[in-house]
Order: sequence, then structure tokens, then C-alpha cells
Amino acid sequence: MAAVQNVGIVGAGAAGLTAAILLADAGIQVEVLEKAEAPQTLGSGITLQGNALRILRQLGVWDQVEPKGYAFSTLGLRAPNPDGTVIAVLDDMRTGGEDLPATLGMYRPDLTAILRERAEQAGARISYGKTVTGKSDDGCSVTVNTTDGASSRYDLLIGADGLHSAVRKAMGIDVEPQPTGMGIWRAFVERPADVVRTDLTYGGPCFIAGYCPTGPDTIYAYLVEKAQERKPEDGPRIMTELAAAYGGPWNGIRANLDHSARINYTWFTTHIVDGPWNRGRSVIIGDAAHSCPPTIAQGAAMALEDAAVLAELLINADEVSETLWKEFTDRRLDRAKAVVTASVQLGQWMLDGVRDADVPGLMHSISSMVKEPA
Ligand SMILES: Cc1cc2nc3c(=O)[nH]c(=O)nc-3n(C[C@H](O)[C@H](O)[C@H](O)COP(=O)(O)OP(=O)(O)OC[C@H]3O[C@@H](n4cnc5c(N)ncnc54)[C@H](O)[C@@H]3O)c2cc1C
Repeated sequence: MAAVQNVGIVGAGAAGLTAAILLADAGIQVEVLEKAEAPQTLGSGITLQGNALRILRQLGVWDQVEPKGYAFSTLGLRAPNPDGTVIAVLDDMRTGGEDLPATLGMYRPDLTAILRERAEQAGARISYGKTVTGKSDDGCSVTVNTTDGASSRYDLLIGADGLHSAVRKAMGIDVEPQPTGMGIWRAFVERPADVVRTDLTYGGPCFIAGYCPTGPDTIYAYLVEKAQERKPEDGPRIMTELAAAYGGPWNGIRANLDHSARINYTWFTTHIVDGPWNRGRSVIIGDAAHSCPPTIAQGAAMALEDAAVLAELLINADEVSETLWKEFTDRRLDRAKAVVTASVQLGQWMLDGVRDADVPGLMHSISSMVKEPA
């Protein structure tokens, strides 16, 4: 019998839904509490690396994910000039295995919808409009309070509630995401025909100009700059101005950066909670436990891996014990820490203007690490 029979999960993001699917598949009762009033239908794109795709295949959703997204296995590097000259096209490591693409771009709400439907099919209950404010743990169970005045009791509570996790706070963990000094403009736009993979341009008015196809007709394009106060309504103008220095596919992208483009601006953050990620019968996973700038696009992959490893341990153990938590820490902490440290380092090299940094070496070391299943 599994270590738990009844699990509460806070947050219906990638981490929470992945844990919900795997636990519900094993016959465990699962309730997901999500503060949003309804599933998100608007958003931007996401770059999913092979190790994330491996978990999606484990969840049984790869056949739905693949046709919705845009797969590619090379990475382009372009010069910051009016022609957008291609400097190199590199083969990307297939970190999920040779039978999966190296990378798949996707519209975030599509990914969430696929995971949500799969979780519901597995028997998980997803309750929207439930903002968790606190919890108490009596050693055998955890009681969770929500802003609507309700409370629910579970054998175990999983805080998959993102960067500003209320569960993390309620567990007494005093770690908050810190800005890294960079901000990113992201625009979800039509796909110019010449965008067939991610191309990165380092330098010019931005630290990075890049894009990722998210389906046959769409891409998200991004410009990374020094973090500053920005108004989202200025997005079309500012992105158009910043993008003027970049050529090639950026000519087509720029033409679409009007008010119909979905544009947002976010600062990069970083944090990592030292192990263990549990206090009694409450545990945090995904962005609640760690965050990093998306310089190597591993945030969602780490969230999926956290959820898969935790579910595996809970399903295969007879009890919630220190041994279980130690194994969870052993399998997750160093790997997540390596990704966070490398992602921050890549950004810091750019902020410091270091020109001879070993970017390919650092990226290769992370890809080699995540190629090994979590
Ligand atoms: C600009 C940017 C670009 C990124 N690009 C990529 C990328 O290309 N590839 C990649 O792999 N990663 C990327 N990431 C990282 C990635 O988005 C995250 O690592 C991933 O979404 C984490 O998933 P999660 O489920 O842990 O958290 P989230 O996706 O944040 O989900 C948390 C959920 O919890 C809910 N919630 C929060 N508080 C409460 C509460 N109190 N009660 C109930 N519900 C609550 C939220 O509404 C949300 O639905 C990027 C991050 C940023 C900031």
C-alpha cells in the first residue's frame, strides 16, 4: 500500500498537475486547490527541453502534446546585425532520449489544458477559486485553510503553488525569490515562415533576443534587458524599438508587435530552498522550492521532475518517513541547485559583460546531467 491515501495539492500548474496525475493513477485520492477562478486560457509560450518531454511521455500525454507544439532539435545563433546573420546552427542534446526531440515549444495554456484533462481522467478533483492561506500539521494529517472559510484535511500536503508559495510560508521557510537584475519582454505572435527553431542573438541593445516556435502558426519572441520599471501597455512600442537592431526573422516578428500581440514583462528571479523540502507532512515542489532565470529553459522541467520523483517515492513507500524525505532530497536538491546556479551564472556573465565565458561548456554540463533520468 502507498504511504498516503489522500493528498492535497496546492496549485494547478505543471508541478501540481503532474503530481496529481501520477498519484491518482496509483489509486490515491487527490484534490488540487487552485486560486484562479477558472483554467487560464491566455498566456505565452514555453520551451520544453527533452527531460521535460520524457516526463510528459511518462504521464501518457505525449501524443496530445506533440501535435499541439513545435518540435526541433537544433539551436541557431545569430549576429546582432540588420541581416540577423546566422553564425552557427548547433545540434541540441536530446536530453529525454534519442526518440524524443531535443526541444518542443508550446503555448502554455495548451499544456496546462492537456495536463488538467489527464488529471481529471485519472480521478483527481481540481477545485478552482480556492486560495490557500495557511495549514496546520498534527503529525498524522495536514489541515488546509482557504480564503472562502473552508478547510480540508489530507494525509499529505504538496505545495506546488509557485514562486510566492503560501505553503512555503506556512511551513516557516523564510526564503523568497530575489531579482537577478534582468527583465524579459515576451510577445506571443504569428509565426514568420523563417522561424523553425529557437535562434538566440546575444548582444545589441538587449542581452538576448530570441524566439521559440510554439505551433505551426505561432511563436513567442523575447527580449532580455536590464531589469527596470516598465508598463505593460508600453510593450508594443518598446519591443518594436528594441527589436529594430535585429534582422532576419525579427523583421517579420517586428511587423506583428502591434496591440494584438500578447505582450508581457517580467523580472527574472532566483531562489532555492535548502533540503529538506518538507516540514512534517507538508512538502514543496517546483517553483515553490526553486526558481531560476529561463536562460537554459529548465524551470518547468525541474518542476515536472520534482513531481514525478515525489509521486514515485510516495507510491512505493509504506509510510511517510525520514527515509522517504532523505531520498527525495538526495534525488532532487543537487540537481535543481545545479540548474539554478548555472542559469543565474549565464545571466550574470551577461550583466558583467564577460566576453570569454564558457557558455557552451556550462550548457553542455547541464544537458549531460539532465539527460540522466531524475
Ligand atoms: C519569464 C519566464 C519565462 C520562462 N520560460 C520557461 C521556459 O521557456 N521553459 C521552462 O522550462 N521554464 C520556463 N520558466 C519557468 C517555468 O515557468 C516555471 O518553472 C514553471 O511554470 C513552474 O511550475 P509550477 O507548477 O511549480 O508553478 P506555477 O506554474 O507558477 O503554478 C503555480 C500554481 O499555483 C497557484 N497558486 C499560487 N498561490 C496559490 C494559493 N495560495 N492557493 C492556491 N493556488 C495557488 C497559481 O495560480 C498557479 O496556478 C519561465 C519563467 C519565467 C518567469
